[in-house]
Amino acid sequence: MTKPVILTGDRTTGPLHIGHYAGSLKTRLERQDSHEQFLLLADTQALTDNAHDPDKVRRSVLEVALDYLAVGIDPAKSTICLQSHLPALAELSMLYLNFVTVARLERNPTIKDEIRARGFGRDIPAGFLCYPAAQAADITGFRATVVPVGEDQAPLIEQTNEIVRRINAVAGQSVLPEARAVIPKAGRLPGIDGKAKMSKSGGNAIALSASPDQIAAAVRAMFTDPGHLRVSDPGRVEGNVVFTYLDAFDEDHTGVAALKAQYQRGGLGDEVIKRRLDGVLQALIGPIRARRAELARDPGHVLDVIRQGTEMARARTQDTHRAVVDALGLFRL
Ligand code: ATP
Ligand code: MG
Repeated sequence: MTKPVILTGDRTTGPLHIGHYAGSLKTRLERQDSHEQFLLLADTQALTDNAHDPDKVRRSVLEVALDYLAVGIDPAKSTICLQSHLPALAELSMLYLNFVTVARLERNPTIKDEIRARGFGRDIPAGFLCYPAAQAADITGFRATVVPVGEDQAPLIEQTNEIVRRINAVAGQSVLPEARAVIPKAGRLPGIDGKAKMSKSGGNAIALSASPDQIAAAVRAMFTDPGHLRVSDPGRVEGNVVFTYLDAFDEDHTGVAALKAQYQRGGLGDEVIKRRLDGVLQALIGPIRARRAELARDPGHVLDVIRQGTEMARARTQDTHRAVVDALGLFRL
């Protein structure tokens, strides 16, 4: 039996953070054996809001690949590939842009949020507005049916499936499969500043490669409850980033529940909960950082992994492009 295909990816805009771990990497690790899995280093998509800084986009390719390998992605089981070197994805994107309207792209809630967060105003790069069509190409190019993503990405999968349905309708056959988002219960992890989303571009992230001091500093700076002034005051747990992270990363759920109750009653200082979180995050990130440092000593090996993965992905995506062109009945020479 063939395994269901997973496609996920990360924009190469900087090293990955604990939001990626909770939101997507953990699911990818759990499914390495049960699924055929492709991990896309999305450098072309990274350019859609980083055209002024291609240097960062290039440098981040190895960073993200190192993060994958350091958390335990095994290239013998999962294929790591580079978006800009898969021309069939660009060709599929061009086709798909004809199956989506500008109004629909502008209505996409993810795109709306991201346009606001990036302060584009009316100067939205066309590539940025259209990246949902490119993402549809990424997903369908691999014929993926399972897409483990953070909650912020759900509307993009919806939009992918709309494009798929339109193409299948015009082709009169089901040439492309629909995909399903797998969203972890934890939802999206907020930034250390309490903002809705931890993000590489937001300057509010804790990297999976963070040093012990960087982790400690991030926890110290973390948003808690601004009304919780004295230890004896009752404190709020909702919107308190320290508790949100404890919920996501501390496996002792009963212990966390007891701390929450005490915090709400009053009598528990921020210092205590922050010390606990620091311990949890040091234990999570420490081994990843060590493995990453070891891998970084041999960048040639990481490059080989990307090269081999990209080659395999090239054949796969070309097949899909050819199938779509055929199904639409375009002229063939
Ligand atoms: P950028 O700021 O450059 O957009 P990012 O931090 O948003 O970077 P992406 O590469 O856009 O990261 O996202 C890759 C994947 O990680 C997506 O599936 C996304 O849903 C997931 N993800 C990113 N940030 C979070 C988060 N804070 N919580 C949960 N999942 C997240
Ligand atoms: Mg993003």
